[in-house]
Amino acid sequence: MLKTPAKPDPATTALFLDVDGTLLDFREHPGDVVADHSLIDMLGHSSKAMSGALCLISGRTLDDVDRVFAPARFPTAGAHGAEIRLPDGRRADPPEVPFPESTFKKLNAFVSANPGLGLEKKHGGASLHYRRAPQLEEPCKDQMLKMLAEVGDQFRLIAGKLVFEITPNSHDKGQAVATFMNVTPFEGRHPLYLGDDVTDEDAFRVVNEYGGVSVLVGESRSTEARYYLPSVAAVRTWLRSSFIA
Ligand SMILES: [Mg+2]
Repeated sequence: MLKTPAKPDPATTALFLDVDGTLLDFREHPGDVVADHSLIDMLGHSSKAMSGALCLISGRTLDDVDRVFAPARFPTAGAHGAEIRLPDGRRADPPEVPFPESTFKKLNAFVSANPGLGLEKKHGGASLHYRRAPQLEEPCKDQMLKMLAEVGDQFRLIAGKLVFEITPNSHDKGQAVATFMNVTPFEGRHPLYLGDDVTDEDAFRVVNEYGGVSVLVGESRSTEARYYLPSVAAVRTWLRSSFIA
């Protein structure tokens, strides 16, 4: 049984936060998710307490993360680390692996033939959302496995929460954490990572290697994380008590 993390020291902590299912609850349509003022405010204050060592790490694209948190902009890793915006605003994206247009077209046709599905093009990958059609999980998985076989071994399939994603092997959330841990003001601090999804496991491993604190959010499951918080609400309460005086 994993424990609640101890109160961190803002002076020595670098905070990494997944977005959906960690800071914000899922909505039927991912495009409907918007951060409320109290959350944006709390993140701003927390970032200040850590001299700016606060980073958002999401499966969403960078543009979409900015939309969710507008008008605030944080150091961010989008699309599972395919897009990286450093604290000084510079981009440090890993080299792009192009997703074949012909495969994307086939996915588009599959989505058109199956109402309720959503398709999203990402930096070097594609996401198939079935949140509004959960009964289509199996056909979606079969389709994505077929597409994966087509695009080859530079890619992998991720089963997220009501979404299947094909994403390049060249990057993940763990590598994104490592990139930030090499730059000011993150460098030399202890990473603290909060996330709920399978894609956060790569980050948990890296954070553990740094001797940091890895926190699984939401439903309990087999995980690399060493600590646990049960819900988005619990995360927000814990962050507030940890970083806001
Ligand atoms: Mg998440």
